Amino acid sequence: MAPTTPRARFAPSPTGTLHVGGARTALFNWLFARHAGGAFVLRLEDTDTERSAGEYEAGFLEDLRWLGLDWDEGPDIGGPHAPYRQSERLQTYKYAAERLLKDGKAYKCYCTAEEVRLRREQAIAEGRPAVYDGRCKELTSDRRRSFECEGRAPSLRYAVDYEEIVHKDIIRGDVSFKTGMVGDFVILRSDGMPTYNFACAVDDSTMAITHVIRGEEHLPNTLRQILLYRGLGLHPPEFAHLPLVLGPDRTKLSKRHGATSVGEMRRIGYPAVALLNYLALLGWSPGDDTELMDREELVSRFSLDRVSASPSIFDANKLEWVSSHHMKTLSPEELLEGVAPFLDDGRVGAGDRDLMMRAVSSLGVTAKKYPDLAAKVAVFLEGPAARDRALIDKMRSEGGRRAIGLFAEAISRIDRPDRDAVREALAGVLETSGLRKGEVFLPIRVALTGRRSGPEIPIIVEVLGKQRTVELLKAAGESEADT
Ligand code: GLU
Repeated sequence: MAPTTPRARFAPSPTGTLHVGGARTALFNWLFARHAGGAFVLRLEDTDTERSAGEYEAGFLEDLRWLGLDWDEGPDIGGPHAPYRQSERLQTYKYAAERLLKDGKAYKCYCTAEEVRLRREQAIAEGRPAVYDGRCKELTSDRRRSFECEGRAPSLRYAVDYEEIVHKDIIRGDVSFKTGMVGDFVILRSDGMPTYNFACAVDDSTMAITHVIRGEEHLPNTLRQILLYRGLGLHPPEFAHLPLVLGPDRTKLSKRHGATSVGEMRRIGYPAVALLNYLALLGWSPGDDTELMDREELVSRFSLDRVSASPSIFDANKLEWVSSHHMKTLSPEELLEGVAPFLDDGRVGAGDRDLMMRAVSSLGVTAKKYPDLAAKVAVFLEGPAARDRALIDKMRSEGGRRAIGLFAEAISRIDRPDRDAVREALAGVLETSGLRKGEVFLPIRVALTGRRSGPEIPIIVEVLGKQRTVELLKAAGESEADT
């Protein structure tokens, strides 16, 4: 038999925003698929009509795109197993449910949600397992008819056969379940909507998913899904359950621990590749000490064998460290694109592009994330127009004018004013003028940027270039003559 191409999927329920745990699941599926040359499928599990919303769906897609986790099949692009939105696949679930009913593997249950809840509470109070007691399994047709006359709409329950199931998990090894702990579970609700476990098992098999990679909290669902595969006579996919992601206090990661959604991380200003790199380390390591990896390296080194079964701790400081590394490796184009949303009007005009490219390349190496860089490069966009009165006075003081004039002359004489040459020029101005450092540096800085503080003068000149530097210094000298 020809080996099958691996097919992994990410199957979020669009009932909120994409959080660290979900993004890590999406990433591991994507890395697995890309590493293996297989397919990465995006499926939206939106059968919970009360909680699912179109805006959440759009948000998930946007966050995944921002992270660069591209999918080969999905609700927006279709594919051979379309549709990829569960709310559009109800017929498929209905057929599968009818087959189970016909084969005697599922039965109609007329118990109301309220009755089930009360019995459940009683079972808990009496210390019995809180599972459905199977009372509708053997109903006579008379009894069924009388329930229907009462106006009860039946749900459909899967009839669990009682035995032990051992499932071989790629990450956790053998996991065994006693099915007696489950009880017959609902697969179609009385309104005809499938439950998560049923829709998921039907979809994973009809979409030919070979590997289901998801969080450990889904282990109890995996048991139910394996039972359904058996009932439907289908071969289950392989399962890999990822370790939990905990906060630094080792409790479930939540809002209390600070920013945990992808949207928040983006607004904080981490580059997408930094977040990907950090998420990859939540439970996986390449087997040596390497921690800083770009997208290609992650894809080429990823393997499920190296995913740990023990919980991983989300550490915002480490994310920041990973981010500061990636800030140094991004191209000027990438830096400029990333920094733009953090500048005042969120964009860089065509006329400023070259200047800003030089600014981000000169200053990107010292920034930890985009807003740090935005604060440093904004001075070049605003230019010296931002000067306030007190600064103008300093610039036009007698010493200030002298320093600016001498510096303008020195820069005009240098062919290529790189950082060393500018440092030398400044030293020369200090010496010739006999002024103190502050009397020289501040007026020059104000002439060039309009600000009291900011990047070092040699970096300012490097970014502005010789011509613009000299123009600004001259303009500062001339503006003095107007008053
Ligand atoms: N819709 C489920 C969730 O968001 C998917 C779980 C799975 O991957 O099967 O938790």
